[in-house]
Amino acid sequence: MKRLICALLAAALLCLSGCGAAEQPEQLSLFAMDTYMTLAAYGDKAQEALSACGQELNRLEQQLSRTREDSPVSELNRGGSAQVSDETMELLTAALTYSELTGGAFDMTIAPLVSLWNITGDEPYLPAQTEIDALLPLVGAEHVHLDGDTVTLDTGCAIDLGGIAKGYASDRMADIFAEYGVDSALVSLGGNVYARGAKPGGQAWTVAIQHPENGGYAAALALTDAFAVTSGGYQRYFTGPDGTVYQHILDPKTGWPVQGDLLSVTIVADSGTLADAYSTALYVMGAEAAQDFWRQEGGFDMVLITTDGRLLYTPGLADILTEVKDSGYVYACVPA
Ligand code: AMP
Ligand code: MG
Repeated sequence: MKRLICALLAAALLCLSGCGAAEQPEQLSLFAMDTYMTLAAYGDKAQEALSACGQELNRLEQQLSRTREDSPVSELNRGGSAQVSDETMELLTAALTYSELTGGAFDMTIAPLVSLWNITGDEPYLPAQTEIDALLPLVGAEHVHLDGDTVTLDTGCAIDLGGIAKGYASDRMADIFAEYGVDSALVSLGGNVYARGAKPGGQAWTVAIQHPENGGYAAALALTDAFAVTSGGYQRYFTGPDGTVYQHILDPKTGWPVQGDLLSVTIVADSGTLADAYSTALYVMGAEAAQDFWRQEGGFDMVLITTDGRLLYTPGLADILTEVKDSGYVYACVPA
């Protein structure tokens, strides 16, 4: 069912974006990296490019998955040390940088708690506080040691790239389109969107931001050459035996699913990896700290949807964001 809902949403997104263009795009849909993905591309080599994209997405799943036993990440988590490719080393370096920049709100060493809760797995689990307390000391970027091509983790530690890998994958899609000379494409890897160039007629791509509460849309963005990545509690969650909804983004400080004042965070940037790491981190931070972070760091735009019914967007999106009538949200620009 989860897959079907994802499929429907992705289809709606692409239709919304592609309708109106005279030329029909080449399209590819696949399930990889634990999410439903859709890609559409225009141009002479669109089909070849999409085929290369599909292969690359399957390769990245094999490389970066925490749950596939044959992945280098699993090998590292099992053995505590592993030699990794330049690519993996670069991604781990980026992940550590984003951890530091976000004060640990994004933290790939959250893995032992992700495994304990198993919220995205088949059998989610509501742990006791003592179980959480036992694993919390294993969380922290200081437990990861990079040396040449070797990664070493402190005893008991593990990494989970689920908060950044799809963003990295969207950056790779950009590289592949460049290689094949494709300059008009739209990619949706779960909540990770990449709008390459413009539609064939020259119009921007329309990328919808999901309404976290009613399954419709909360806003639309007119994007060209941009990555838009959304994190939200509504994307994956389970309802505990106590009736409480536990969503999949954990607060590395407490080890509990975030119960903050945000329903979703969308980051718009020129890097998918950055957008993915930041969307997860800002969801953890909450609305006020997220706005402070944007003011301090800059280099990206964002849309925050709050639990008290506000949709806040940064000034860089003011001219390209369309409000959705009857969404129930009050739309407001974040003061610079
Ligand atoms: P995203 O959908 O990009 O926000 O990523 C959420 C996924 O990243 C979760 O399903 C976990 O696998 C992992 N994760 C959960 N909490 C964090 C966190 N605070 N920092 C980094 N990764 C996380
Ligand atoms: Mg993320």
